[in-house]
Amino acid sequence: MPIRVLPPILANQIAAGEVVERPASVVKELIENSLDAGADRIEVELEKGGCKLIRIRDNGGGIPKDELVLALQRHATSKVSTLDDLEAIISLGFRGEALASISSVARLTLTSRTAEQAEAWQASAEGRDMAVSLRPAAHPVGTTVDVVDLFFNTPARRRFLRSEKTEFGHIDELLRRLALSRADVSLLLRHNGKLVRQYRAVRGSGLTDLQQRVLAVCGKEFLSQALHLHSEHHGLTLSGWILPPPAVTDSTPEVQYFYVNGRMMRDRLIAHAIRQGYLEALGVECSPSFLLFLQLDPHQVDVNVHPAKHEVRFHESRLVHDFVVSVVRGALDEGMPLPGRHGM
Ligand code: ADP
Ligand code: MG
Repeated sequence: MPIRVLPPILANQIAAGEVVERPASVVKELIENSLDAGADRIEVELEKGGCKLIRIRDNGGGIPKDELVLALQRHATSKVSTLDDLEAIISLGFRGEALASISSVARLTLTSRTAEQAEAWQASAEGRDMAVSLRPAAHPVGTTVDVVDLFFNTPARRRFLRSEKTEFGHIDELLRRLALSRADVSLLLRHNGKLVRQYRAVRGSGLTDLQQRVLAVCGKEFLSQALHLHSEHHGLTLSGWILPPPAVTDSTPEVQYFYVNGRMMRDRLIAHAIRQGYLEALGVECSPSFLLFLQLDPHQVDVNVHPAKHEVRFHESRLVHDFVVSVVRGALDEGMPLPGRHGM
């Protein structure tokens, strides 16, 4: 075959392979967009675990009429415009790929109104050429994205979808993670017409305010047994809760959440550091439960490592690692009764 530039739909579907794995990945991208748009109320509505319908409605700033079509194009973003921006990202999105990718593997409708506009507009991406049609609509200030029939045109991807219950479970878990990162945002989840989760916005930003959200997401048992920690060192701040291992019971839901500048991460370096902190404090290996927030200068961390942004790269990874080890170890040393400790 001679070399050819891929048609847009195919290019987008290939990109979708990296970001859109299942309904939960669509929900993640769309909620992150709502958060980037400044929303403090986000409603998620699902049918059939999100396989039939995902609808996200927010009260954010909205998208102006003349940018609606552009928003659906690949590499179109309002969040990054220079290399400097890319080197210190503070928004959750920046690749300008999510809407284009999702619309290439589902039927996507974007309805939005900005505060400046008297009426709302709706854009739908349809057909193989990814043409977008625009029509007037009724909508308050903010945005609603409808994603219908995920993978309807990509049967190979559709086969990887699991049961409605499993897909719903992934979305429910995702919502927990997001709820923990933004206690100030109200999150609602409806499934097949029923309200299944409601995380009410917490007004203040103090410890007791955050605790309300932790209680709603992680439960009373976790919060009552967990040790609170807060530590700062060389521009790094680590705060949150860890469970001392003897307190972990079968009924405690698994809590393993780590956020870097508000972004949920599954990072090997961090996972290792937390285990190491437990090991040093207790003298034995264990599976730790934690809810931790690391804050650092955005210049010190590269989030542009993975399309789904699950991983980060720290410029001073040794410093970050050792800091996490010492804070976790210190909190366990301090918070645990002496007989529970070994290897001192
Ligand atoms: P990215 O988030 O990386 O910029 P997306 O494809 O997710 O790329 O979105 C493209 C653009 O569409 C965003 O940069 C933003 O300007 C706009 N947008 C998407 N969703 C929303 C929303 N819920 N509210 C306001 N603007 C939005
Ligand atoms: Mg985005």
